[in-house]
Amino acid sequence: MAAETPNPHPASRPPMLSVREALAFLDAGARAVVDVETVATLAANGRVLALDQASTIDVPSADNTQMDGYAVRAADCASGSARLKVSARIAAGQVGQPLAAGCAARIFTGAMIPAGADAVVMQEQCKANDDGTVTVRHAPPAGQWIRRAGEDIRAGATILSAGTRLRSQELGLAASTGLASLPVLRRLRVAVFFTGDELTMPGEAPGGVLAAGAIYNSNRFTLRALLENLGCQIADFGIVPDTLAATRDTLRAAAGDNDLIITSGGVSVGEEDHIKPAVEAEGRLNMWQIAVKPGKPLAFGEVHKADAASAFFIGLPGNPVSSLITFMLFVRPFILRLQGVQQPAPARSFAMRADFAWPQADRRNEFLRARINDAGGLELFPNQGSGVLTSTVWGDGLIDNPPGQTIAPGDIVRFIPFSELLH
Ligand code: AMP
Ligand code: MG
Repeated sequence: MAAETPNPHPASRPPMLSVREALAFLDAGARAVVDVETVATLAANGRVLALDQASTIDVPSADNTQMDGYAVRAADCASGSARLKVSARIAAGQVGQPLAAGCAARIFTGAMIPAGADAVVMQEQCKANDDGTVTVRHAPPAGQWIRRAGEDIRAGATILSAGTRLRSQELGLAASTGLASLPVLRRLRVAVFFTGDELTMPGEAPGGVLAAGAIYNSNRFTLRALLENLGCQIADFGIVPDTLAATRDTLRAAAGDNDLIITSGGVSVGEEDHIKPAVEAEGRLNMWQIAVKPGKPLAFGEVHKADAASAFFIGLPGNPVSSLITFMLFVRPFILRLQGVQQPAPARSFAMRADFAWPQADRRNEFLRARINDAGGLELFPNQGSGVLTSTVWGDGLIDNPPGQTIAPGDIVRFIPFSELLH
């Protein structure tokens, strides 16, 4: 692939961006969506909260029992074998009468503690007698098995902050305070397309046979699932031929009312790579050489819309593993910022033992596909090629290997599980 402008002094090329620098540029360039909509809490999974939420109630709203058993006055049971009159039966949802001295109330998990009672004895430590009494064979400390009003949440407390991505946990918490709907930022609208004359959709090969020179458009499947995991609304423009005109036309259509355009392939500077001139003609572009392997070239820019606005543009490399890893490392945090997530947590890496040798250092920051073995160490997939998708299915995650670093068995390396990079 010949460079457009031949560079007679390769050594004088600007240095490659480090991973950290590329992330900082993306972060600085991000503009979060601002439109707010109200959605049912039941339908808010994965959305980003637009406003802080406070609780209007104590949770629990009243003292209640954590066990099936008997509500008692602890002082009545101090002997360790007290016989008390069973004066009430209180199921969850019922409100019992105040408990008199010398009495016990049969009580079931979640039911309100009656006034006067200060402990619950679990039913396994009690024996119901035929005469309407119960023998309590345990001397409970005051407060035993009682969940206190407000022990989880106090009325007035902020329970969730603006910019939080709502997961199962956050939705349950919001619902526990009675919130039936939530203000969230609108979904990010992401347009995608896939450049390459060699691309064929699975199921669409003529006669069911992949033509010579053709490959299946696997990036479409990977990228769409990645975007779905992040809760994006996807506009898919499919396969685009390797011509400047088609690439420009599709860019304009993709800008439409979308926030971000992501493409795959065509980001090198070969004769068949039209992304760079197309984006430059329809907006503006930075072509970054990032000191990362796989996935060195990354195109970042903007495409003008019909109005004065523009859509962000990211061009991923075509090689499937490069494309996936570039998305995980760079696009995911950028999307989180566009979605309005406050301070997206960086993907965590864990110190783990290498059970393999990696004797050939690279000047780039490598992300190696690895798996956790039964001995609690890491093993490498033998083929680390940027087109070998099998490595990403076999692996549990990526080893973040700094530039210039060799690895010997027993070395401690940084491991990022895929789970950190997917949502
Ligand atoms: P490119 O970045 O267009 O030069 O493509 C680099 C490599 O990735 C080539 O081997 C392409 O055939 C392959 N490739 C490009 N796009 C896709 C795609 N959508 N799915 C799978 N492989 C692709
Ligand atoms: Mg191509």
